[in-house]
Amino acid sequence: MTEQHIYIPKHVYGEMIAYCASQLPHEACGILIGEIVEDAASIHSFSPLLNVDSNPRHRFTIDQAEWTRHLFRLAAKSKSIIGLVHSHPSSAPTPSSADLATEWHTICSHWIISYIEPCTPAVAAYRFLSNRRFQHLSYTLTG
Ligand SMILES: [Zn+2]
Repeated sequence: MTEQHIYIPKHVYGEMIAYCASQLPHEACGILIGEIVEDAASIHSFSPLLNVDSNPRHRFTIDQAEWTRHLFRLAAKSKSIIGLVHSHPSSAPTPSSADLATEWHTICSHWIISYIEPCTPAVAAYRFLSNRRFQHLSYTLTG
């Protein structure tokens, strides 16, 4: 797979951080929507998703029906899910072993927002590879 550079507008970046902060002390999740043109992924918007996990302080689970509704809506607009966002209320913005064990590695980017320092959340983006490996992704804030 060729390396894709990711562009994310500042207001979308701000929205995902503010939404995840609003869900503390629970983990929050959401998707970054946009389009991929050649080697660049351009994010257009953020959509929050409900965390339906029974233990939402330590895990997140996406509601399958909500996920499917998004997929259909996006397909109709020729847009895609560029990234999956979730928060770590009290741990570093590094993928946990549970994160790496999910089936979500097919999504092109994973964003983790850490609120260890609630006033200065830390955001990191990754690509999940097979066998629980991952690599850091760089991104550019636009607008
Ligand atoms: Zn996690």
